[in-house]
Amino acid sequence: AKSAGGNRFELADPEADARAITRHGLTTALPAALERGEFFIEYQPLVHLGDGSVRGAEALVRWLHPQHGVLGPDRFIPLAEHTGLIVPLGRWVLEQSVRQARAWRERGGDTDPVRINVNLSPCQLTHPGLVQDTVDILERAGVEPQALCLEVTESALIGADDDLLKPLRRLAEMGIDIALDDFGTGYSNLANLRRLPVSVLKLDRSFTQGMQQFPADPVDLKIVEGIVSLAHSLDLAVTVEGVETGAQAEQLRILGCDTAQGWYYARPGPPERLHELALADATG
Ligand code: C2E
Ligand code: CA
Ligand code: CA
Ligand code: CA
Repeated sequence: AKSAGGNRFELADPEADARAITRHGLTTALPAALERGEFFIEYQPLVHLGDGSVRGAEALVRWLHPQHGVLGPDRFIPLAEHTGLIVPLGRWVLEQSVRQARAWRERGGDTDPVRINVNLSPCQLTHPGLVQDTVDILERAGVEPQALCLEVTESALIGADDDLLKPLRRLAEMGIDIALDDFGTGYSNLANLRRLPVSVLKLDRSFTQGMQQFPADPVDLKIVEGIVSLAHSLDLAVTVEGVETGAQAEQLRILGCDTAQGWYYARPGPPERLHELALADATG
């Protein structure tokens, strides 16, 4: 709100105003930022709870803004979704991540190929180019679909009709894993899970937080135990996010969760870091 002469535009909340300007400024800066290469990706390892080996990594995008420094995805992904820029940005993230998976493999020798998890926003799901773009990106990088996992939030798929599920089914049929992200935060009907072409449940961080005490709250334990046994009975693997302590990791392992991700293992970091972690664990 600008003012001056007349008193018609009062600055009721200067901070809110500054935030609005920033939001607007960030939104209009997004397309040029993509062209100028201001985005970069950090990778966070996914660790097997049984043996502690690194099985893959999740790609998490950041924006190195020339004035504001490094911005996390929560600051700009919603803006990119709003303007549609998420489609080219998401495609860029996918291409970078898949190429990175290829590079890890080439350096990794005979250790197991590292898998790559990439987040998909709902707007990308409804974009008609999704399947073909994904196929092209994998082919260009020479990476097989089995090395890729696309993460879709539970809320994006609530009440999803067949039109929305069709591209996901096609991707799943090609061998790409689909993970249901932030599971447990929405209100999805558990029976509905059978209908979705997903092969992985990513249990939301809120469940992991309930495991901070040892032993954890018995009700929390029962809930996670129930989700894990349901998931496994449907042939879904369970990944837990937000693991910050060894006690959490241990309880989640006992509950039968398959894979974990969190600061206890590693914060998101540059690609070289993941290579070091994977090598360290392959050599002992
Ligand atoms: P998410 O998919 O749930 O990703 C996990 C978030 O948890 C990441 O936040 C990660 O840094 C954070 N995290 C990991 N371990 C821990 C832990 O032990 N404790 C705590 N407290 N946090 C942990 P980040 O990087 O800020 O990403 C936020 C969200 O932005 C992601 O949530 C995802 O929904 C979205 N996002 C990130 N990259 C992309 C992308 O390329 N495309 C789209 N569409 N969304 C993205
Ligand atoms: Ca995710
Ligand atoms: Ca998540
Ligand atoms: Ca989350």
